[in-house]
Amino acid sequence: MAHPAFDDFLPEALQFHAPEPLVDIGANLTHESFQRDLPAVVERARAANVTTLILTGTDLEHAKQAALLAEEHLGFFATAGVHPHDASRWTPALGREMAALYAHPKLVAVGECGLDFNRNFSTPTEQEHAFEAQLALAAESGLPLFLHERDAGPRMREMLKSWRDDLADAVIHCFTADKETLYGYLDLDLHIGLTGWICDERRGHHLRPLVSDIPLNRLMIETDCPYLLPRNLPSKLKGRRHEPALLPWIAREIAHWYGISEAELGQATTQTAHTFFRLSAQQLKESA
Ligand SMILES: [Zn+2]
Repeated sequence: MAHPAFDDFLPEALQFHAPEPLVDIGANLTHESFQRDLPAVVERARAANVTTLILTGTDLEHAKQAALLAEEHLGFFATAGVHPHDASRWTPALGREMAALYAHPKLVAVGECGLDFNRNFSTPTEQEHAFEAQLALAAESGLPLFLHERDAGPRMREMLKSWRDDLADAVIHCFTADKETLYGYLDLDLHIGLTGWICDERRGHHLRPLVSDIPLNRLMIETDCPYLLPRNLPSKLKGRRHEPALLPWIAREIAHWYGISEAELGQATTQTAHTFFRLSAQQLKESA
């Protein structure tokens, strides 16, 4: 099968093509940095064999935009939630608007939501309040959760534990914590999302020996673009904006530390993501 060609934005050393179709479970494509050249970004993702994108919705406005984008593109899906940074803006009325959005056929998860005690842009109390409300929405809608957690592992576990029986699935996106936290999450039967954090020799090395502790049917991969550009890319990138076409590089790195081939990792994480987000056979065929 012929693949779409790369344009000349990415240097040749960064024109990856994954051996198996990949799912980027965390792409912030509604971020303003993608506004001027989104069609080209989408084309490059396809050229890289990143066939399915889950667009992260971090507040109501971005979630609506993500749902619209998902309507327009095969293989695109969206999440809708309020990020812990914005938790202070949570109101019951906002919750009702979110609930209405969950009926959208391309809306596949509640989130990004959770707890971030690292930066505390909203107070911990505000964060817990907004998160609790979104746990209820996830239970009510039956959708899986797309979770953000930084420096809040114990509290996150506690809150999830009391809700766990009422929740479908949940993924800790961009997992960066330690072994104990990882095992705690796996004990709750959660999924784990890994980003290019693992490519960072300064702060990602602790993740490397942990990777193979994550069962393949619990592991998914993501760019979290435009954030978290991998630090070990084999060539410089103009603008330093991360994008889905670079996901194969992250997959390669994770496969290396897992001790399996890139193809095996690609196939397994894609299967896991399809199951986790309940992408229908029809939707899969359309995005293949
Ligand atoms: Zn996040």
